[in-house]
Amino acid sequence: MRIDVLSLFPDFIRQCAQVGVVGRAVERGLLTVEPWNPRDFATDNYRRVDDRPFGGGPGMVMLPEPLSACLAAARAASALPARVIYLSPQGKPLTQAKARELAALPRLVMVCGRYEGLDERFIEKEIDEELSIGDYVLSGGELAAAVVIDAVGRLQAGALNDAESAEQDSFEDGLLDCPHYTRSESLGTEGVPAVLLSGDHAKIARWRRQQSLGRTWLRRPDLLEGRVLDKKDAALLAE
Ligand code: SAM
Repeated sequence: MRIDVLSLFPDFIRQCAQVGVVGRAVERGLLTVEPWNPRDFATDNYRRVDDRPFGGGPGMVMLPEPLSACLAAARAASALPARVIYLSPQGKPLTQAKARELAALPRLVMVCGRYEGLDERFIEKEIDEELSIGDYVLSGGELAAAVVIDAVGRLQAGALNDAESAEQDSFEDGLLDCPHYTRSESLGTEGVPAVLLSGDHAKIARWRRQQSLGRTWLRRPDLLEGRVLDKKDAALLAE
């Protein structure tokens, strides 16, 4: 998969593509992350990428011309068809299902806003989808882009090692993950539920499912709304 990112802070985007699972996906050739700086496409002497808003008021707005030229260059860098996303607090919320959908695409181009955001005409003309990482306002889209790169990058086939398999993670089947314990030198098996030490894999799977259901019910009941539990799950939750 290829991800191009339009950002005034290309070094930040470059860094994001170098660490952890995403860095490994890049090293393994599963993912390419390419930053593009709209400032490189500004045509005036000051390399301006923003201007005051029509109608007055505080803040600056990102100019459409450098963005359009930058996007055209990014598009032309690969023949792969791209979905163009503007990271915006006004976008649809990023969910695990959305991350899966995006991870299956050959190419994403993400546009990071700064200041008050982008000129609306650029959004209308060029953007396929607006995506938000939550109901709060960041000062720029770079952190949101980093979130998308990570959520999507780790889903590329071969990015995760077996031990980190994504299938059991929270939200994958609409539930939160179960708690995890490991061999702690100082704590030993203290506080570890006995079933996890039993070696009985069927019982362990049952316990994990029950924990997932219980946690979801307690912490995120909204995830269970409208969900019809099968008999097995309903019985586990009722226990
Ligand atoms: N005036 C805009 C509004 O109220 O909708 C906010 C602009 S914000 C200060 C600057 C940039 O940060 C936005 O253009 C967007 O790219 C990014 N941004 C801020 N919050 C975000 C969020 N929750 N999700 C994704 N991107 C966000």
